[in-house]
Amino acid sequence: MMTDRIRTFLDEVRPDSPCLVVDLETVQERYLAFRRALPDTAVHYAVKANPAPDVLRLLVQLGSAFDAASLPEIRAVLAAGASAERISYGNTIKKERDIAAAHALGVRMFAVDSFAELDKVARAAPGAGVVCRILTDGAGADWPLSCKFGCDPDMAAEILVRAKALGLVAHGIAFHVGSQQQEPDAWDRALSMAASVFRSVAERGIQLNLVNLGGGFPAHYHGNIPNLTEYARTIKEALHRHFGNRIPETVIEPGRAIVGDAGVIRSEVVLISRKSAGDSVRWVFLDIGRFNGLAETENEAIRYPIRTASDHARREPCVIAGPTCDSADVLYQHQPYPLPVCLDIGDEVLIECAGAYTAPYSSVGFNGIRPLQTYVI
Ligand SMILES: *Cc1c(COP(=O)(O)O)cnc(C)c1O
Repeated sequence: MMTDRIRTFLDEVRPDSPCLVVDLETVQERYLAFRRALPDTAVHYAVKANPAPDVLRLLVQLGSAFDAASLPEIRAVLAAGASAERISYGNTIKKERDIAAAHALGVRMFAVDSFAELDKVARAAPGAGVVCRILTDGAGADWPLSCKFGCDPDMAAEILVRAKALGLVAHGIAFHVGSQQQEPDAWDRALSMAASVFRSVAERGIQLNLVNLGGGFPAHYHGNIPNLTEYARTIKEALHRHFGNRIPETVIEPGRAIVGDAGVIRSEVVLISRKSAGDSVRWVFLDIGRFNGLAETENEAIRYPIRTASDHARREPCVIAGPTCDSADVLYQHQPYPLPVCLDIGDEVLIECAGAYTAPYSSVGFNGIRPLQTYVI
């Protein structure tokens, strides 16, 4: 989302293109919107969405907790000023020595989705808390995380029972309904599964007390998505429906919805061409592509709003591609993107809602291109 502050920064500082500019005012506003919409739910910001130190520092000051995917992310959150008890290690795929190092730093909450991972946690982080992640199908999500993470509810119950036997604290269930999830009902389906695990574990004498509702809340790439209050209402209703009088503690782990709308990528047109004299579709090559920040255009999954200075002029569909010598570096082709016919080489192109999953995804030097530079303002 373009803001006055970002526009002023681009005009006055004129940073080299391409670059990502993140407006902390938007980050703060989105974080506080979650606090208001779900006041009884702890927010653990998913660091991987945008680990820029200034973003982490702001969220530490606002009182956020953090979901880290790795030891370097845990260290980054600690360096930003958070205490270790505000960090959960949510990746279900961890080296045992990283679990031990996180535990030594004071991290006490680990996610697992298999017996083998549970055994690692029991050895490397004795007495720690665990949540078991259950599978969801990712339906309704533009960037599904389905099938790689989680186990079925029956296995989750067994894992949690074993966790207790191993001396760990069996806290509860985690899930992620898929990123950029457009259907609030996805949480209802997942909560119904979570409640069934609570019941079957309770029959074995263990009372679970936590549901980690994951991320998945959307950024506003386009207009027609439910607003946050609708997600919150669906979640609250589902908690009452499936848990009755024993509503567990809850955690959400938004990444995209906190930082996505806060960032704008400034890029530049490198080339505009056609493949033959009669070709009706122009190819527009930008100085940013799949390998220096726009990885989520894979399969055209995420369709960023793209703005130019002449959007009011007549527009025609274009193929948009990145600058590298790799044929996978094409952003939008199956669904061509309308760009002004007067667009020219050297023109500025703004890619909006680009604060999440862009800079950290950029390669360190593919084709000699440096990683996408981030400016946090
Ligand atoms: C990536 C991730 C998130 C953040 O997901 P968003 O869709 O960006 O909100 C939250 N939790 C876990 C465990 C993740 O892996």
